[in-house]
Amino acid sequence: TTRIERHHYDVVVIGAGGAGLRAAIEARLAGKKTAIISKSLFGKAHTVMAEGGAAAAMGNVNSRDNWQVHFRDTMRGGKFLNNFRMAELHAKESPQRIWELETYGALFDRTKDGKISQRNFGGHEYPRLAHVGDRTGLELIRTLQQKIVSLQQEDQREYGSYDARIRVFSETTITELLLDGDRVAGAFGYYRESGEFILFEAPAVVLATGGVGRSYKVTSNSWEYTGDGHALALRAGATLINMEFLQFHPTGMVWPPSVKGILVTESVRGDGGVLKNSDGKRFMFDYVPDVFRKQYAETEEEADRWYTDPDNNRRPPELLPRDEVARAINSEVKAGRGSPAGGVFLDIASRRSADEIRRRLPSMYHQFKELADVDITSEPMEVGPTCHYVMGGVEVDPDSGAAFGHVRGLFAAGEVSGGMHGSNRLGGNSLSDLLVFGKRAGGHAASYADGLAAKPKVAVDAVEAAVETALAPLQRDTGESPYTLQQDLQAVMGDLVGIIRREGELADALRRLAELRERVAKVSAAGGRRYNPGWHLALDLRNMLVVSECTAKAALERQESRGGHTREDYPAMEPKWRQVNLVCSLDGDTVQLTRKPLPKMRPELIGLFERAELGKYLTDEELADFDALVA
Ligand code: FAD
Repeated sequence: TTRIERHHYDVVVIGAGGAGLRAAIEARLAGKKTAIISKSLFGKAHTVMAEGGAAAAMGNVNSRDNWQVHFRDTMRGGKFLNNFRMAELHAKESPQRIWELETYGALFDRTKDGKISQRNFGGHEYPRLAHVGDRTGLELIRTLQQKIVSLQQEDQREYGSYDARIRVFSETTITELLLDGDRVAGAFGYYRESGEFILFEAPAVVLATGGVGRSYKVTSNSWEYTGDGHALALRAGATLINMEFLQFHPTGMVWPPSVKGILVTESVRGDGGVLKNSDGKRFMFDYVPDVFRKQYAETEEEADRWYTDPDNNRRPPELLPRDEVARAINSEVKAGRGSPAGGVFLDIASRRSADEIRRRLPSMYHQFKELADVDITSEPMEVGPTCHYVMGGVEVDPDSGAAFGHVRGLFAAGEVSGGMHGSNRLGGNSLSDLLVFGKRAGGHAASYADGLAAKPKVAVDAVEAAVETALAPLQRDTGESPYTLQQDLQAVMGDLVGIIRREGELADALRRLAELRERVAKVSAAGGRRYNPGWHLALDLRNMLVVSECTAKAALERQESRGGHTREDYPAMEPKWRQVNLVCSLDGDTVQLTRKPLPKMRPELIGLFERAELGKYLTDEELADFDALVA
C-alpha cells in the first residue's frame, strides 16, 4: 500500500500568494485551524513579482479620487462585462485593506506630507497605486508572511506549538479535491521534493492558485502557473466564467530570446516612458478608440503636460488599458514598423533623468542591465506583448467567494476567480483584489466550516483513485515526454488562441487540443518520485489542457471583440454580447459551454455613468430602462 500522510484542518487554503495568505489570516483570526499550501517555496508566488502597485482610491495624491471613480474606471477597463458587485466591493474596500496592511507593518512610499504615495497607471483616472518603488508585491507578501508568523508566535505562547492553528506546507502540489457528495471533504497532493503523498481532510477549501500563463510560450508567468485551481474547481463540479479573456501585457521583454516574455512594468509608462516605432514615431496617438477618445490627449504637448498638470490636460495614450496598447503594438509590428527583435521601442531614457529612472524603477534598471545588457537610462527598451493574466476563473458569489455549480465548501479568491475584472483587468487592480476578496473568502470559509452539523468524510476509493492518477505517468514508459506535450500545447495556444483570433483557427485549435488530450492521457515521465520535475509537469498538463479547452471554446463562441478577446472576423464590440457570460463546466471529461445573463447593475451604480458613455456599451432596451430609471 502507498504511504499517505494525513492531516485534519478546518480550512485549507491552496496557494500562498496575496489572496491565499490574506484568506488564511482571516480564517485563523476566526479561530479556525488553517493550512496554507504552496506549490513553490513559501514567499515565491506571482504576488511577489508584482511591480507597479495596488490600486485603492485613498485620494492621497488627488483628493478627487473616491470609490465611485475607481468603480467607474474598473467597469470601463473591463468593458462593462465585470461582475458589478465585485467591482463595487473592490472599489469600496481596497483602501481599508491597504491601511490594514500598514498595521501589519507594510512600508509604502510616501507623499511629501507623509501619506501613502500613489502613482498613475493605465485606465486609472487619478494616481491610485500604492507602491514601494517597483517592488510592491514583495512588500505585500513580506508583510502578510510577517503577520502569519506573528499569529504563529501567539499560538506558540498559547498552545506550545507554532503550527497549532496555522501551518504552511510549501513545495506541496495539490492534484485533486476530494468530495463527500456535493460537499468538499479535502485535498490530495504530493510533496514535490520527496514525491510522498499528503492528504488534507477539511470541510472548507479556498482556491488561491493564481493564473494559467504557462499554456503560452511568451508569458510573464513562472513555471507554477498551469491553471491548477481552475482545473481543480472544474473537476469538483464548480464552473468557470470569462475564460476567453486573457490579458496580453503590452510590454514584455522581446530580447534576448531566453528572457522573452519577462515583464516590463507599466510604471515605466506611468512615470513618463513612451512607445515608438522604427520610424521614431510615438504611435499610440493613432490608436485611441472612440470609447476612450474624451479621456486621452490628442497631441504630444498635451500628453506631456498631463504628468505635471493632470487637472487641465488629458492623459497620454500610452496609458490606455492594456488590451488597447497590446493590439496597437501588434499592429505596428505587423505593418513592418517594429524593432529589430520584433517588438517596439519603449523610451524613458530621453524623458527622465538617469537618477530619477534609477530611483523610481530600480528593478527595471537591473533587469535590463543584467538580462539584456541594455542601460535604460541611456537607451530605449525593446518590448512586445506577453501573456500575463487570466480574467476568467472560478464563478463565485461576489460577497463570499463561494464557488457556484454543484459543490459546497469551495471558495476562490485572487486571479483564480472570475468576474471581478470583466474582459480586461486594469493594472494595480489585482493586488487590491487579492486583499479584498482573500479576506472575504477566508472569513466565509471559516463561517461555512462553523455552520456544518457534521463533517464531510473523505472516501477511501476517491483517495485510491487520486493515488492512481498521480502515479500513472511514472508507470507508463511508452508515452511521450511531458516537455514535448507542453511545447505543442503552447504552440497551439500561442498560434491559434493568441492576441488576434479567427474562427477557422479557433476550430483548428479545438481539434488539436482534442488530439493533445489523447496524447496527454498517455504521457509518461522517466524516473522515480523523488524530486522529478518531468513527473510534476506530466500532472500539470491535464490541468493546462482542460483550461485551454475552456479558453478556446469560449473564444470560438464569443463573436465580438472586447477587452482581452479580439476576433479579427468580429472586430466590433456588440452590446448584445455584453449581456452574456460564457460558463464552462465539465461533464465527465468534456468541457461544456453555456450562456448565462450578466446580473443587472443596481440603479445607484449605473447612475454613476453618463448616458452618452453607457450608449457605447448597452443595448437599446437597456438604454430605455436607464432612461425610465432617471426620468
Ligand atoms: P499567486 O500570487 O499567483 O499565487 C498562487 C499560489 O498558488 C502560489 O503560492 C502557487 O505556488 C500556488 N499554487 C498554484 N497551484 C498550486 C497547486 N496545485 N497546489 C498548491 N499550490 C498551488 N498586479 C497588480 O495589481 N499590480 C502589479 O504591479 C502587478 N505586477 C505583476 C508583475 C508580474 C511579473 C506578474 C506575473 C503579475 C503582476 N500582477 C500585478 C498580477 C498579480 O501579481 C497577480 O495577478 C497576483 O499576484 C495573483 O495573486 P494570487 O494570490 O491570486 O496568486
